[in-house]
Amino acid sequence: MPADFRSLIPTLSYRNQAFINGKYVAAASGKTFDCVSPIDGKVLTHVAECDAEDVNRAVAAARAVFEKGSWSACHPGKRKKVMLKFADLMQKHKDELALLETLDMGKPISASAGGDIPGSIQAIQWYAEAADKVYDEISPYRPDSVSLITREPIGVVAAVVPWNYPLMMTSWKLGPALATGNSVIVKPAEQSPLTALRIAELAAEAGIPDGVLQVLPGFGETAGQALGRHMDVDMIAFTGSTQVGKYFLRYAGESNMKHVSLETGGKSPNIVFADAGDLDRIAKVSADGVFYNAGQSCNAPTRILVQDTIRDEFIALVAKHAKPWVPADPLDPNTAMGAVVDADQMSRVLGYIEAGRNEGATVAAGGSQVRKDTGGAYIEPTVFSDVTNSMKIAQEEIFGPVVVAVSFKDEAEAVRLASDSIYGLQANLWTRDVSRAHKLSRQLKAGTVVVNNVWGSDITNPFGGYKQSGIGRDKSLHAMDKYCQVKNTYIQL
Ligand code: NAD
Repeated sequence: MPADFRSLIPTLSYRNQAFINGKYVAAASGKTFDCVSPIDGKVLTHVAECDAEDVNRAVAAARAVFEKGSWSACHPGKRKKVMLKFADLMQKHKDELALLETLDMGKPISASAGGDIPGSIQAIQWYAEAADKVYDEISPYRPDSVSLITREPIGVVAAVVPWNYPLMMTSWKLGPALATGNSVIVKPAEQSPLTALRIAELAAEAGIPDGVLQVLPGFGETAGQALGRHMDVDMIAFTGSTQVGKYFLRYAGESNMKHVSLETGGKSPNIVFADAGDLDRIAKVSADGVFYNAGQSCNAPTRILVQDTIRDEFIALVAKHAKPWVPADPLDPNTAMGAVVDADQMSRVLGYIEAGRNEGATVAAGGSQVRKDTGGAYIEPTVFSDVTNSMKIAQEEIFGPVVVAVSFKDEAEAVRLASDSIYGLQANLWTRDVSRAHKLSRQLKAGTVVVNNVWGSDITNPFGGYKQSGIGRDKSLHAMDKYCQVKNTYIQL
């Protein structure tokens, strides 16, 4: 890792045009939008503002190459080789990608360089390796017939992604979608288009054919909606808010009934029983889980449910461990917490903090905007006590560095409170009682249950939500299925 990423800034050249059919091009309308860094509020570059006309061009190119078969029908081993080369090129440019990510959305350079970019590269590599290792099936059908069950790529996939882990969320879609032979159009979030735009040319350099990976920067209501409603897009792979996820279900219903997979919001409970053990360590892991990425993680353990007998002690410990997460310059390698993604998000989060105060919750740590003189968007790590689960701050996804603590009496109340949420992405549970751990893991309605930790993510494991946290799974071999049609072929012998 370079000692000083700042010294690389003058060497950057931003890719700010759409990547359509193998070339960087201006939006058909000629319009651009400002790409603003939340580090200091300054404009980094002006990015092509794609809309329905650009979507039409990209979908036509994606369809043409899909039907031609140069990617969709090539030997899976070829896809593997090209994708591995793509991952190698990302690796070669890892420092540049890390810097782009940090400048674009304000996360610390240590997180971009140490987490997001390696995780993105790993996702492309992992699915590249899987491309020629997943077999189809023959069913136990009649002896005078053969019944083949085969997977085929769906076709034109639009990946509409958020800004919190821009390249990683993109790679979680690209890996399995490309490995299974689809043509993919990425619509990055308007807050964070730079890394997706940069990797488009790396994909082309690696040998991914024109039209197979395209990137359309632009706004949700225009470019995103046009993809969602397009009659020749076969699938939307979405990560973002629950509200927008529901729009995509509507767009699909009102257009061609395209497949929709949704990875949406969360308000993950972090249940701490009095028997859990070393409370100081648990409070530290819990605070780290919330404040990493300035709380902008869909599965962050933002809703502490603590047993009433240890409530005051535990909340005080969480407030203590919140302190090191004080926001600082994202380009300093020692910074743990950077900016939130933009001024709008900062206002939204501060609005929730105000709402918590107004509802009678107590601010046990933080609660304010800081580093105002930088022109950037920074909020202190904030801990709320005296919270009831019906409060707005306990029910809604704040998506900032804010954790709330609610207390419970016994197992039954813990499970009831954990389930009293529209979300079901992840649930965390701390106890030394092995049968309680198993029993409650079964009862918790969440796609991921983590016992005695809050970190439990790996490319090998499926990730996704129950309830309004989503439909479908990213990561693991399970994710490959969603980018495929399953065909059954009967052959009479
Ligand atoms: P968002 O829903 O506002 O935006 C996500 C994407 O949808 C962006 O590309 C945006 O341009 C597009 N979009 C917005 N409005 C649209 C519309 N009307 N029509 C079509 N497209 C539209 O989400 P965000 O603020 O970028 O990201 C934060 C959200 O993402 C949080 O809710 C978080 O929990 C969620 N998230 C979920 C996961 C997961 O795996 N479950 C992972 C990361 C983030």
